Amino acid sequence: MPPCRQAWSWQVWSILFTGWVWLDPLTSLVIVGVIVWGTWGLLRDSLAMSVNAVPSTIDPQAVRRYLETCAGVSAVHDLHIWSMSTTESALTAHLVFPAGHPGDGFLMRAATELRHRFRIGHTTLQIEISESRPATSRRTMWFERLPARADWRTRAGRSPTPK
Ligand SMILES: [Zn+2]
Repeated sequence: MPPCRQAWSWQVWSILFTGWVWLDPLTSLVIVGVIVWGTWGLLRDSLAMSVNAVPSTIDPQAVRRYLETCAGVSAVHDLHIWSMSTTESALTAHLVFPAGHPGDGFLMRAATELRHRFRIGHTTLQIEISESRPATSRRTMWFERLPARADWRTRAGRSPTPK
């Protein structure tokens, strides 16, 4: 028996016995499908992180609702949330306090709440007394509209609700 025959894969033997020449490409396509399915979330998150998109585990509308319901806040604008790494997220936002600056205590409490509710570890808040809203806003990238596959990090029941 020539040594090279031992290296023949099961696809080669199967094709010899059955005559199904499409078996090898089909096997390859199935393997490709499994790889894409298994790494879809990683690909999507990598693209999102490369353009500072909101992490898929954070609901920006829930964050906005939380900030808007803080005592004394009349408006929230320029809310930005992005990934600093696979485990760390950052937030910046402008909060309008018509009655005046709420003090450092509020900034500390808000940062703590954002860390506990949304796992945002780095918060920068700008306090404004009067509302002046810039015209610029960030566009949604095409791949952020791709459907999100069920993700092991998105645990049911962890969805934060505002006070
Ligand atoms: Zn502002």
